[in-house]
Amino acid sequence: MLLSHTFPRGLALGLAAAAAFLFGIAQASEPRTLTILYTSEVRSQIRSCNCTKFRYGGYGREATLVSKVRNETKNVILVDGGDFVGDPGSEQEKLKADVATKSMNVIKYTAIVPGENELRFGQRLLDELKAFEGVQVVLANVYDAKTGKPVFANRYWIHKTSDGIRVAIIGLLDPVLMSEPPADQAAVRTADPVEALKELLPQVRKEADLVLVIAHAEPVKAKELAQTAGVDVVLCTHSARKPAMPPRDRNTVDATTENIGSCVVVESSTSQGWSIGRLDLELNGASVKSLASRLYYLDREYEESPEILKIYDEYDGRVRELASREKEELKARVKEVLKQRGYDPSKHNKEDAGAKSGPAEQPAQDSASPKPTAE
Ligand SMILES: [Zn+2]
Repeated sequence: MLLSHTFPRGLALGLAAAAAFLFGIAQASEPRTLTILYTSEVRSQIRSCNCTKFRYGGYGREATLVSKVRNETKNVILVDGGDFVGDPGSEQEKLKADVATKSMNVIKYTAIVPGENELRFGQRLLDELKAFEGVQVVLANVYDAKTGKPVFANRYWIHKTSDGIRVAIIGLLDPVLMSEPPADQAAVRTADPVEALKELLPQVRKEADLVLVIAHAEPVKAKELAQTAGVDVVLCTHSARKPAMPPRDRNTVDATTENIGSCVVVESSTSQGWSIGRLDLELNGASVKSLASRLYYLDREYEESPEILKIYDEYDGRVRELASREKEELKARVKEVLKQRGYDPSKHNKEDAGAKSGPAEQPAQDSASPKPTAE
């Protein structure tokens, strides 16, 4: 429940409220708005290639849009609901993960709730997340299996907006998504999210005006969480929902929400970073009076932020280094194989080597070779 009397107000309003209370004058409470911007399941799509297939997205454009919304609107929070990295394994994925974490720092996310991809990615990424300054990493139900301590220090976070609205952000991960073990870290234990939520809520409600649960879970589990008394908004961030696409001449489209009791449930469909979700809540006293839910597609209307362009440039340089290193390693491996087969390349010219040893040329076309940012 939203408690309007907990919002700080100016002296004049305070006196008016006191007068209304003392003299029994009915006073309509002043509506306030809260804007929740969100991303989820970006899965390493760090930049649009501006091509037909991937014409949306990227942190560069996102930074510009977020900055615009913050300039135009009060009480904005920005959250990522997890799976901002893809599958661990390749070196290039690690470079993309670096771009994601650096970009989210620059864009000044309020909070990040890691998904199973981040937990599986490995210790280095987790350490980077823990070192975030200003961006809160929030996860309530994932523990180090050895020590029993929460993997991230914050099980929830209370964010105070510019107007003093206290928003509790609780991050929860559905254990069914953790079927694969983490790549190179100590094992984690994921507790039941409903139990974890029930345990936290009595304390959280004392500290917050609005409770936002970011459920890195499939919709069925997210809706179960929404049935827990005391939750105002649930954002479901592991969803296979096909996103609504905007009409040809526009870059925004309405997104659906659902009400479960007094809780608003939003199923995010911002995958691959193509769009940013935006939920505008008009708060009136103890309830959400009205809301608007939309997706903002990141198309060419949004210039890429210069700060993020620097991060892209650095990434491109590192990808080139990686490609060159991999090429040298491949050459050395081919040379070794040829040597084992009794072939001495120094006795043959380049054309001969190409004609006689097909495999030596093929790896240059290797589809696993690092590619530049735009993909
Ligand atoms: Zn996930």
